[in-house]
Amino acid sequence: MKYFSTNNQNNLVSFREAVLKGLADDGGLFMPENIPQLSISFLHSLKEKSFSEISLEIASKFISEEEIPSVELTKKIDESINFPAPLIPFNNSLNVLELFHGPTLAFKDFGARFMAQIMSYFIKDSDKEMNILVATSGDTGSAVAHGFYDVEGIRVYLLYPKNKVSLLQEKQLTTLDKNITALEIDGTFDDCQRLVKSAFVDPEVKNKLKLSSANSISIARLIPQIFYYFESYKQLEDLNRNIYISVPSGNLGNLTGGLIAKKMGLPITKFIGATNANSVFTDYLKNGNFIPRPSLKTFSNAMDVGNPSNLARIIELFNRDISLIREVIFSSSYSDDETIDAIKEVSEIYDYIIDPHAAVAYLALKNFTKRIKENYSGIIVGTAHPAKFKDIVESATGFSIEMPEALLTCLNKEKKTIELSSDYSIFKDYLLSLK
Ligand SMILES: *Cc1c(COP(=O)(O)O)cnc(C)c1O
Repeated sequence: MKYFSTNNQNNLVSFREAVLKGLADDGGLFMPENIPQLSISFLHSLKEKSFSEISLEIASKFISEEEIPSVELTKKIDESINFPAPLIPFNNSLNVLELFHGPTLAFKDFGARFMAQIMSYFIKDSDKEMNILVATSGDTGSAVAHGFYDVEGIRVYLLYPKNKVSLLQEKQLTTLDKNITALEIDGTFDDCQRLVKSAFVDPEVKNKLKLSSANSISIARLIPQIFYYFESYKQLEDLNRNIYISVPSGNLGNLTGGLIAKKMGLPITKFIGATNANSVFTDYLKNGNFIPRPSLKTFSNAMDVGNPSNLARIIELFNRDISLIREVIFSSSYSDDETIDAIKEVSEIYDYIIDPHAAVAYLALKNFTKRIKENYSGIIVGTAHPAKFKDIVESATGFSIEMPEALLTCLNKEKKTIELSSDYSIFKDYLLSLK
């Protein structure tokens, strides 16, 4: 399988090159040259297969034996897709797919962990260590850091803005040791990004260190986001009904994974792309115009994206025909007030605590299914553990929620950072001083 850039169909690269580059030279996103098809017998056999067996079968369609031999790919999957994705029924027609049982309690663990394993495989014969620079405003950085934690041949430098992330996020970023270093930058998130970008184009730095980014749009992060859609289907009781999956969406990577799963043969009737006040995607489906805009801050902050990069992939998947996209995806958008009401409603009706992101997906699914008379199976994709948004969720429900073990452990650990100013020359000196 080769990969092309969404900016140029004719420029094909190997999987290895697509992973190590992250972004194509022309600025496009990598896409597989075709969408592999899974047989009906594979779908029928899902119930007998484990999550890792399913993941391996899907991954091997995208990553050929010559790129990564299957014994190695099996190991990489066992080391990254090593936590469950349970489907929890609320009632006969409504379920939540819990994707937050990884180390940082959000679905990004799937992508970050798989990408880390794949990158470590591709650099294993290199004599120099790979240095990954990540600017983060919170959640992505911790998923990436945990994904690369203790992975051989790779060091990670996380740049985060001092005093501008929550206490919990800061603890998740700064309590790992070994190959992970947290750099506390006296500045904003934009400063952190500027420092990383400057280092990438600085010949002196590039000469001394092997640098890479852990790009959020890496194809190695997208592929594992296909696996759990098959895992969710496997857990449904009645497979003869229409299936509607509602995905809380920001940069549209999670939704893109689902759409690829459908194209591979997974019989999902419709996807629902749920957005918060950052409704660029919802507006695009409604009006046919894609108009990026600055992001707005909301309670479902991991969806605060004003220019969703994976839209380029979705457009490509549907041959640049918006009417085909509209046949498969419904989208609607919700405010913070509606999100709070939804968290309360789900707690009262279903006795389940939902996080603000999944709450938006709940609202969009409810809206979509309100006129549907026949039996159906609805799935809300639960992207984060509610404890990560303790204050919002507690004030919405009136219940205090228990902190999971993973969060408690890191809250009790001591923060370790290197403090730097937002001046590039200081950051550069720091990089050049590394051994
Ligand atoms: C990143 C994230 C999202 C949005 O996912 P995209 O792939 O960017 O659309 C939703 N919920 C949570 C908790 C996230 O961390």
